[in-house]
Amino acid sequence: MAQNVLQFIDGEYTKGASGATFENISPVDGSLISIVHEAKKDEVDRAVSSAKAALRGPWASMSISERNSILHKIADGINARFDEFLKAECADTGKPYSVASHIDIPRGAANFKVFADLVKNVPDETFHMETPDGAGALNYGQRSPKGVIAVISPWNLPLLLMTWKVGPALACGNTVVVKPSEETPTTTALLGQVMNDAGLPKGVFNVVQGFGPDSAGAYLAEHPDVNAITFTGETRTGEIIMKAAAVGLRNISMECGGKNSAIVFDDADVNKAVAGTMRSAFVNCGQVCLGTERVYVHKNIFNEFAEKLAKGARDLVVGPPDGENVNMGPLISHEHRDKVLSYYNKAVEQGSEVLLGGGVPDMPTKYAKGAWIEPTIWLGSKDDSAVVREEIFGPCCSLLPFEDEDEVLARANDTKYGLAGSIWTENTSRAHRTAQKLDAGLVWVNSWFLRDLRTAFGGAKHSGIGREGGVHGLEFYTELKNICIKL
Ligand code: NAD
Repeated sequence: MAQNVLQFIDGEYTKGASGATFENISPVDGSLISIVHEAKKDEVDRAVSSAKAALRGPWASMSISERNSILHKIADGINARFDEFLKAECADTGKPYSVASHIDIPRGAANFKVFADLVKNVPDETFHMETPDGAGALNYGQRSPKGVIAVISPWNLPLLLMTWKVGPALACGNTVVVKPSEETPTTTALLGQVMNDAGLPKGVFNVVQGFGPDSAGAYLAEHPDVNAITFTGETRTGEIIMKAAAVGLRNISMECGGKNSAIVFDDADVNKAVAGTMRSAFVNCGQVCLGTERVYVHKNIFNEFAEKLAKGARDLVVGPPDGENVNMGPLISHEHRDKVLSYYNKAVEQGSEVLLGGGVPDMPTKYAKGAWIEPTIWLGSKDDSAVVREEIFGPCCSLLPFEDEDEVLARANDTKYGLAGSIWTENTSRAHRTAQKLDAGLVWVNSWFLRDLRTAFGGAKHSGIGREGGVHGLEFYTELKNICIKL
């Protein structure tokens, strides 16, 4: 019998009063993973009330060190149940164990430790001030929790991206109501038990399951007792959530879509650039917000780069999470595959040449109902074609030749998005010069997805609003009060 996935409210797992449920279907073989109980308005009300009440309970009177110790226990709790989290994440997403065991689960745990330690060690600002009487005054900042934080998260890195927000929110003394993606409800639900085992007071961490519109997501975003909303997902969903947040002037943090570029100069180490682009275009089946879908390659090394990237992509082993040597799973769902395939078709209609892939792979009968897709590389795509302009969120990229630095920067920046970019060059001056001119929140030189959690993370233009990570998250997760003492 299929497992039930429930809400987690006030420290207890509970079904929904409406009795509404939906099926969580495997993207690997179309089988039923679980029945998810959907939260409607009543459950969202209860979750938010529980989070609001917990702001006045034992959580509020805990010292930073006591909170720090609980957050460390949460991280240890995830690690103690590593295999359970790993299996659940890979079942929901179809991603290979090799990916989730190196990225999703360890980072999911690390998010609690890093932010707990950071909050413990960050100094408050002070300003000594001159006054007409000569005695002076002392200003100092005091940070207090913002209150009830709504965390609305996506399906591509479910545990990692949800804890990336829950970690700092709790470290700063807030309480949370989390709405994971309807595609990937399980690891967020599992985290409830870890929270109880770690001794987190009831009501500090709550989970509501369901969809966006007319469901848990929208009810949560609109709830007047939510003090701030942190969201990761598509830009158009972010716009809807911003409208909801406008009522009551609630603060928002938005981590949204991207159409990221890589620029490979002719002085780059081509093999390293190919290896980096293999990861940035195809890891997690291309479902990474920071992933690269536009690869600008200098004309002098274009053919060599294209041949080597095509060889690497051809060697990718597509299969189920536990398959031998598998390094690429399916897309998250058939609905998403339809979207990605529509871009594969549009690419050809709009004049791109398919260097590799372009369709659905032949899979063994056992996996016939999975959402499989081929890794795909295009040549000759026009700068104004859909595959160069719009976020596809699949394992694909266009290889685009260029001749000089100014030209390639102008083309790379000619996008409504501004999340991430990578530059491949062995020339240090060029590295600094071009990195500084790329319109993006994150730029890597000779690497990709190298993340230090103490650094700022976020996007420019349509890719988001605000920065999280390191001390930057404090701006969002705390209310800063200035206290001025006349001496
Ligand atoms: P999505 O916008 O469809 O959904 C994200 C979350 O919002 C889900 O939990 C969903 O149920 C909820 N939601 C949907 N409509 C809502 C509404 N009206 N009100 C409240 N909640 C609502 O995004 P997705 O398909 O899950 O994720 C893929 C997208 O996320 C891509 O665009 C990707 O680039 C982006 N993303 C960005 C980052 C980043 O850090 N910038 C990271 C990962 C993913």
